[in-house]
Amino acid sequence: MPELPEVETVARGLRQALVGRTLAAVTLHRPDLLRTDPALFLAELPGRTVAGVRRRGKYLLIDLTSPDREALTWLVHLGMTGQLLVLPAAVPLQSHTHLQVDFVPAGRQLRYRDPRRFGFWALLPTAQVEKEPPLVHLGPEPLEMSLADFQAVMGRQRGGLKALLLNQRVIAGVGNIYADEALFAAGLHPRQRAEELRPVHLRRLYEALQRVLRAALAAQGSSIDAGYVSVEGRPGNYQDQHQVYGRTGHPCRHCGTAIQHTVVASRSTHFCPRCQRRK
Ligand SMILES: [Zn+2]
Repeated sequence: MPELPEVETVARGLRQALVGRTLAAVTLHRPDLLRTDPALFLAELPGRTVAGVRRRGKYLLIDLTSPDREALTWLVHLGMTGQLLVLPAAVPLQSHTHLQVDFVPAGRQLRYRDPRRFGFWALLPTAQVEKEPPLVHLGPEPLEMSLADFQAVMGRQRGGLKALLLNQRVIAGVGNIYADEALFAAGLHPRQRAEELRPVHLRRLYEALQRVLRAALAAQGSSIDAGYVSVEGRPGNYQDQHQVYGRTGHPCRHCGTAIQHTVVASRSTHFCPRCQRRK
């Protein structure tokens, strides 16, 4: 599933390709991906200009303005296998393409592709989008948190670290890959309870999370099983740097012990039993 580094890479790609462009025809093949009225979506998009593209947690926010209509934001969650592609309109449609948007002047097309269809969209007034679900429930952005913010947020929590990192209400944007990688980088066990951590361990986790997310962003995210790609259709490179995720049975790059696999918080979890002992 695309997480913060992948969604941020897509946001940057969309920003570069689309800001300032005016939307023309919208072709919607799967109206059921919309959580708001599809008729309104089809009526409101054409003629609007892309004013900006933002990310909040794992959500993309495409701000659409018009000189005589209320500003709207098109919210996109990529789910498990969602892809937003900006391609020459002449490129043949790939299977599982659920939406096409043309622009003025014609030439490139924005396409949404999603084989498993766990992704979804909504069209909301820009003034309301951060005050309503799903965004209103999100915790802070990890890359905008200071150590003091992180200590304050995590210091209030009880429970296992992996479950807390996955909880979007605690911290937004971290999913299964980066929770596993950050816990390894911090030398902390996925089931370690937050309330039993010393300040030095919280600091280590904060620094590990910053380091892992920034490195993943620099590598344009992780691509596994042909899921996530950039707006140009290119896979990310961070999977080559994974220390534990997807490496079950392989030797730990630090100590040589076989990486173990278990289920924590109903999610597939990878860790080194030697480097990540419980405190
Ligand atoms: Zn190890």
